[in-house]
Amino acid sequence: MSAPGRRIIRCASCDGFGWFEDDFSGETEDCDWCAGAGYVYRDGDRRDSPIPVADYASLADELERLELERLREMGYQGSAKKPWRQAIRKDTHLGRNPYLDEDES
Ligand SMILES: [Zn+2]
Repeated sequence: MSAPGRRIIRCASCDGFGWFEDDFSGETEDCDWCAGAGYVYRDGDRRDSPIPVADYASLADELERLELERLREMGYQGSAKKPWRQAIRKDTHLGRNPYLDEDES
């Protein structure tokens, strides 16, 4: 499934953030290099490519680990909502408000 020599590295363009913030307007923009994930594939030839959305679910553990590492480096204790988390949660009960159904009877 995975190409030989390929690994996941922090995006060099946005340094793992996945987006840029305009200092003046405060607007944010997804990083083109990693498609907003903050991480990219690096193949055996040291070429980087964005991680396809379809791969997020199977890479979630690895991405989560890298993200925790990054947040710890920054001394940040909160959690950012990264694209793979959104993709994973979309079809699970975690992505739903558990109180939504209870009022309907
Ligand atoms: Zn990036």
